[in-house]
This record gives sequence, structure tokens and C-alpha cells, in this order.
Amino acid sequence: MGTFLGVDLGSTTAKAVVVDGAGRIVASSIVQMGAVSRKGMQRAVDRALADAGIAEADLGGTIATGYGRRLVPGAMRTYTEITCHARGTAAMVPGVRLVVDIGGQDSKAITVDDEGLVQEFAMNDRCASGTGRFYEVLARAVECEVEEIGDLAMRGTQDLEVSSMCATFAETEIVSLLAQDLPVEDIAASVHRAIAARTLALVAQVGRRTPVVMTGGVAQNRAAVHFLSEALNAEVGVPEHPQLTGAYGAALLAMESAARSRPPVADVPNADGIFPHTHAAGHSCADCDGTLSTPGPVDLGARISVRES
Ligand code: ADP
Repeated sequence: MGTFLGVDLGSTTAKAVVVDGAGRIVASSIVQMGAVSRKGMQRAVDRALADAGIAEADLGGTIATGYGRRLVPGAMRTYTEITCHARGTAAMVPGVRLVVDIGGQDSKAITVDDEGLVQEFAMNDRCASGTGRFYEVLARAVECEVEEIGDLAMRGTQDLEVSSMCATFAETEIVSLLAQDLPVEDIAASVHRAIAARTLALVAQVGRRTPVVMTGGVAQNRAAVHFLSEALNAEVGVPEHPQLTGAYGAALLAMESAARSRPPVADVPNADGIFPHTHAAGHSCADCDGTLSTPGPVDLGARISVRES
């Protein structure tokens, strides 16, 4: 059946996902980088392949995505993060209609159809507002780790006015709120609320749809999810591994691309020199006009199992 690799070389992390021929994740890895780096990407690939117990040469295909996708050697194709996040999220959460992906340096709103194909998208990659970087500025200003900022914000009780959503000035504003001895929890909550309002504006560009799923590293911040849900007035789901959706989508596209390039069954004669003709269960020759179709998209949704890297 073969194994396929998806690599998402993002602005702050490199992600690699190995899937089997049925689209199940057999191994994955996430490597934190200082900035986009070939070394980080190679470490992510090596770890995922080692965990899967296969060599790079045995892969049935590799597809790369992400900010640094052109730096991935051996990829048969590259796709944008939009395509890959949509594909991966739709496979992880069947039925999703709106994907909000917030990574280290950008945020995206993507509407998708049943097969995970992109309908509309809007992206902010020009300014740090509403991206992972902005949460990092907040965490630094209130002296906690970015992994803790969500819990802190969830303890906030009053809404403070936060006027600057520019990452450069936000730090100054947060420091000024701290200087007024306002509770740090309220400051964190108010900044989260203000960022969610920004994300709502991004969503408005593509049209609000439900179900909504949030992906990217920031989806691990439960306050970011909570305030987005409040702003959208809709439940916001988070897949089990929100940072892996892009790499997973890339791996699925590699698998599907390999399936498309395989010769149709009728092109391969059996030992008697006869071209066999296979049918799906329940399909009889009486229904058949003798033509063979190429394999279509594979329904993966309910069959995904994830193994931690
Ligand atoms: P990229 O693909 O652009 O490198 P990611 O989707 O990996 O970005 O997201 C990275 C961002 O996610 C970081 O900037 C950080 O703000 C945030 N992040 C990562 N891990 C966590 C966590 N455990 N809790 C909260 N935020 C996180």
C-alpha cells in the first residue's frame, strides 16, 4: 500500500506526518525552530521516518507545504498551506465548513466543501496582530510562557479597553495596563478578546460557516479558542493535533497523487495474459459499460488513528 510523507515547514515549527496507504497517521513529529530552517525540517522528517520505521527511499511520495515549502528536498510537489490545512482538517474533522488556522506569523480563514476542497480563503500575513507572535508578545509582557497564557486569560473577569492591536505598540499598552495595577488575568483576557475580534473580521471576508474548527499552534491556547467561539457565536472544535493538519493534508495529497498516477487495473494483464476487471462490492457486470474510472478521492474521515511522536 505504501507510505507517504507530508512536510509543513512553517515560520516557527517544522512538522512531518507519515501516513499509510489508507491515510492513517503512522508517525508524526513537530520540531521547534528559531526561524525557517532546513536543519529543523530535516530533524522533523528524520524523527517521523524513524518512528514509522521506514527509510526515505521507501516512501511512495512526499508533498511539502508551509512558508518554507520550497526548501524541502525530494518533494514531488508543493501545495500552499491553505490547500493542505483544508484537506487535513476535513479529514480529521469530517463535515467542517470553516477552518481558522492561526500559526506563528499568520492567520487564515478558509471555507471548505465536503471533500476538503477550498472554497474561499482570507489570510493575514502582513501584520503580527492575531498571530502566534502576538500571543508571544503578550506572554513576555506578563512574564509567563506562551503555553500558560490561555489558562491565565481564562481566569480574567473584567473587560479592559485594549486599543492597540499592533504587536509593536501592544507591548507598550500592556505594560501601561500593568503599571495601573490592573489584574494580569484581566489584561490577558482583554487582549485575547481583542484578537478574537480581529479574527472575526478575517472570517467575515470568507463568510461565517459552521461547523468551525481551529487549527495551528494557537489552537492549543484554550482562551484563544474560547474567545473566538464567543466572537463567532458558534462552537469552535479543535482536532486532537491541531498543529499537524497542514502536514497531514500534504501527506494525504501525496497518497492521492500516487494513486492517480498508478496505471488503471485493466492495463496490467494477469498471468494468463488476460486484463482483469475488478468491481466494487455489490457491482455486477450487468451494470457495467466496460470502462474503468481512475481512483477518486479516498474517504478517510472516520478511519484516522494518531500515534504520538
Ligand atoms: P507555523 O506553522 O507558522 O510555524 P504553528 O502553527 O506551529 O506555526 O504555531 C506556532 C505558534 O503557536 C507559536 O507562535 C505559539 O504562539 C503558538 N503555540 C505553540 N504551542 C502552543 C501551546 N502549547 N499553547 C499555546 N500556544 C502555542
